[in-house]
Amino acid sequence: GPVARMAAPPSLPEKRMTAGAPADEAVEARRALERVADLLDRRAAELRGDAAAVLGAQALMARDPELARRVGEYTEEGEPAAWAVHAACGAYQELLRAAGGYLAERAADLADIRDRAIALLLGLPMPGLPDPGVAHVLVAEDLAPADTVQLDTEGVLAIVTRGGGPTSHTVILARALGIPAVVGCEGADTLGDGSTVAVDGDAGTVVADPDEEFADRLRQRAERRRALLAESSGPGRTADGTPVALLLNVGEGDPHKAGAHDSEGVGLLRTEFLFLDRSEPPTTQEQEAAYTALFEAFAGRTVTVRTLDAGSDKPLAFARTGHEDNPALGVRGFRTSRVHPGLLTEQLAAIATASRKTSAEVRVMAPMVSTPDEADEFVSLARGAGLTRVGVMIEVPGAALLADRLLPRVDFVSIGTNDLAQYTMAADRTLGALPDLLDPWQPALLHLVGTVGGVGERTGRPVGVCGEAAAEPLLALVLVGLGATSLSMSAPVLPAVRRALALHTRDECRRLAELALAASSAEQAREVVRAAVHPEAAEW
Ligand code: PEP
Ligand code: MG
Repeated sequence: GPVARMAAPPSLPEKRMTAGAPADEAVEARRALERVADLLDRRAAELRGDAAAVLGAQALMARDPELARRVGEYTEEGEPAAWAVHAACGAYQELLRAAGGYLAERAADLADIRDRAIALLLGLPMPGLPDPGVAHVLVAEDLAPADTVQLDTEGVLAIVTRGGGPTSHTVILARALGIPAVVGCEGADTLGDGSTVAVDGDAGTVVADPDEEFADRLRQRAERRRALLAESSGPGRTADGTPVALLLNVGEGDPHKAGAHDSEGVGLLRTEFLFLDRSEPPTTQEQEAAYTALFEAFAGRTVTVRTLDAGSDKPLAFARTGHEDNPALGVRGFRTSRVHPGLLTEQLAAIATASRKTSAEVRVMAPMVSTPDEADEFVSLARGAGLTRVGVMIEVPGAALLADRLLPRVDFVSIGTNDLAQYTMAADRTLGALPDLLDPWQPALLHLVGTVGGVGERTGRPVGVCGEAAAEPLLALVLVGLGATSLSMSAPVLPAVRRALALHTRDECRRLAELALAASSAEQAREVVRAAVHPEAAEW
């Protein structure tokens, strides 16, 4: 489709305006920030779930007293309001970037607040989404949450941004909306407004000015795929009838909407949404109500609740664990309960109470379990709370390597390939700079999945995969070949995974897995598997 570029953010005029009295400039600047916060709140009120929460959190940032204090410092130094906002936001962004992880990614939210406030102060057009009146490919430097959540899913064919890492808001929300997106695209700057581009979200490629034949081929492929996927429904099965449960990854959002998808249940409930961006943990009653609503929406189906995964890229104000130079290797996930045991026991009690009220098949699992002893500890806590189906996530290579000792102690395991990739390849998953090492096709990662899958087959313990690896149809085949008995992913990709499975037998999946394991690189693994799958799946 045609490119529609996002309006450039307002820039400060070269010639500095003369500042009024510092106190007046400060009032003007703070008023602008307040108007931005109001605007974000108004938008949040029109939305629900993830979208509303993201905008609500951004409005809080615009009202942050620390930001206002910094603005005051600059106006005192004689800066006019717009310049003071620019400088204060810049200094604050530096702090966030230095903190790393989740906080560093919030620096983009602050840039958006800055641009909107400066536009108000200088009487310039408010930066935001273009509206060319036709279906288009949205091209931007980066998308702020305020923009992403307002995307018109009909009008936007695809998103291309120059910035943004694999865990940016753009990726998370675009995937939830089912809009193809390519982030971190080096050449995004060179795509002219109105020029035609072909975007392949599966392959992560953007082709400028494609010739008609190429564009037609892509369109036909997309059309064929849409038609085939529209026919796919029901439980996951290989071509020879081996069941592979297809489950959803669920976080914040409308439980009924999640429940309405054609899935066999929830494979990963990320409970962090109840805890993030708060100064106090949610009360037991609040947790019970949230879990009950979700369990009711999935009555009769499996719901796998992951207990709180705090720390590292998900820091919580009330679960501090002291300064850590390497938070991804620190007190996070299940380890948080060493320092704050009450958070976990209260959560387990709330899950158990909600579970008794509904007919969903509730399972619980702990994130970041590293040893068989930790698995024992979690099982005893969860059973003590009255929960009967208890498992752990395998996200640490140490846990995968001792799968033969760990699996017999639990009812099931679920492999978190996002973290397992980061720890296997020693590559920070929040860095945009190392995508090749974090590629879920890395043969080393697949070997660990195979170790766990093999033990699962021998011991009869179900082995799920709930990282992003399960969302790639061809890789999903490999995972099943490695022994995965269920796959969990975001809703828009589920039909493609279901279709890919239906085209291959269990033995064919095993052969694909052998091919991938024998490869020397992620790229080679992907290529050899693509060359060996059913011709229909090879097009994806
Ligand atoms: C994972 O690590 O693969 C996973 C599913 O958990 P999260 O992405 O929430 O860390
Ligand atoms: Mg994880």
